[in-house]
Amino acid sequence: MPGGRDLKNDILNSSLCTLCGACLDWCPYIKNLDDNLVITFDCNVAEGRCYTVCPRTNTDWHQVNSSFFTDADWSQEIGSCVKVYRAKSLSSIPGQQDGGTVSALLKTALEEKLTDALLLTGSRDNMQPESFITNSLSYIEKAAGSKFLASPGFRKIMQAAQEGVKKLLVVGRPCQIQALRKMQVSQADQLKDMDIISIGLFCMWSLSWEFTNYLQNEYPGLTIKSMAIPRHGVEIMTNQGVKTIPTAKVREFIRPGCSYCLDMTSELADISVGAFEAEAGWNTLIVRNSSGTELVSKAVGNGLLHVEDYPENELQLLKSASFNKKARNLNSIKELIANDAINPPVNISQYDYLEEVNS
Ligand SMILES: Cc1cc2nc3c(=O)[nH]c(=O)nc-3n(C[C@H](O)[C@H](O)[C@H](O)COP(=O)(O)OP(=O)(O)OC[C@H]3O[C@@H](n4cnc5c(N)ncnc54)[C@H](O)[C@@H]3O)c2cc1C
Repeated sequence: MPGGRDLKNDILNSSLCTLCGACLDWCPYIKNLDDNLVITFDCNVAEGRCYTVCPRTNTDWHQVNSSFFTDADWSQEIGSCVKVYRAKSLSSIPGQQDGGTVSALLKTALEEKLTDALLLTGSRDNMQPESFITNSLSYIEKAAGSKFLASPGFRKIMQAAQEGVKKLLVVGRPCQIQALRKMQVSQADQLKDMDIISIGLFCMWSLSWEFTNYLQNEYPGLTIKSMAIPRHGVEIMTNQGVKTIPTAKVREFIRPGCSYCLDMTSELADISVGAFEAEAGWNTLIVRNSSGTELVSKAVGNGLLHVEDYPENELQLLKSASFNKKARNLNSIKELIANDAINPPVNISQYDYLEEVNS
C-alpha cells in the first residue's frame, strides 16, 4: 500500500494474526475461511479501521491501559488488579472447564440485568469454536468449557452494535480483549451507545484448526467431549475414555501469532479468569476495576459464586508464569525485528522493564 501501513501485508500475510475477528465486519473486503482471514480486494485506505482495531498493529499499550484502569493497581506481570481470588461456582455447571466461575458470572450478569446480551463461544462438535450472541440463560451452559482452537468471535461486537444492543458482556482470549479496547478507543463513535463488560480468559496459546484433523486421524470414529490441559499433558475426553497427548505434539498446532503475545492474563479485561493450578475445580479470578467488582460482588451476594483469598505463594507462581510468557515472546518479537521481517507489533521499548527485572 502506498503511503501507509496495511493489514494485509503487516498482519494477515505475516503470521501475526491472532484470529480475534475484530477486523472482520469493520471492512467489507475481509473474509473468514476456517481459521484464516483474507482480504478479497486491495482497498486504498491507509491504516483503515481494520488496522486501528487489530491487537497486533503497533500499539502504545500503556496509553490504552490508562484509558480503562488506574496506575495505582498495576503490576508488570499481570496488569491492573483490584483483588485476586480463588473462586468457583456454587452450582456445578455441566461442561464447565474449571470452577465454572465464568458461567456463574454470566448468569449473574443476565439475572441482574447488568447486560442485555452475551458474546459467547460454543461448539457443535466440542472442538471447533462457534461464537454467538445470546440473551438466554440456557446458552450459558451450551457454551461452557474451553474451546482451545482460536475463533474470530469478536467480529460479533460490530453485529451487536448494529442490532442496537445497549449492554453487552463479552468473553474472550487476551488478544480479543486487546482488540475490544482498541475498538473502544479508536472507534468510540461507533460503540458509544453500547456499554461493554469484558471477561478475559487466561491464555498461553490457542490452536490452529488443523488440530481437529490430527485428532480425527489419530482417533478415527471417536466422539470428542472436551479438552483439558493439566500439568502432565493434554487430555482429550472421548466417548471411549481419556486420551492423553504429549504437550510437545499439541504445541505443533499452536497458532504462529501466539508467539508474539505479551499477555497471559487478559490484562485489559474488567475481570480475568483462568485455572487455579494448585487444585482442580477452582479458578483464579482477577478483578481489575469497578465494573468487575460490581459483577463479582453480585455473583457472591446471590449465592452463585464462592471466592476466597488467593494464596500468596500461588500469586507469585502466577506472576512468574505470566512474566515468563512476556519475556519469551518479547524475544520472538525481537527476532522478527532483527530479521526485518515485519512491522513490529509493539514498540518494544514499552517493555524495557522486562529486561530490567530479568537482569
Ligand atoms: C484458547 C484458550 C487457552 C487457555 N489457556 C489457559 C492457560 O494457559 N492457563 C489458564 O489458567 N487458563 C487458560 N484458559 C482458560 C481456561 O481454560 C478456562 O476458560 C478458565 O479457567 C475459565 O474456566 P471456567 O470453568 O470458569 O469456564 P466455564 O464456566 O466453562 O466458561 C468458559 C467460557 O469460555 C468461553 N470460551 C470457550 N472457548 C473460548 C474461545 N476459544 N474463545 C473465547 N471464549 C471461549 C465460553 O463462552 C464460556 O462462556 C484458556 C482458555 C482458552 C479458550
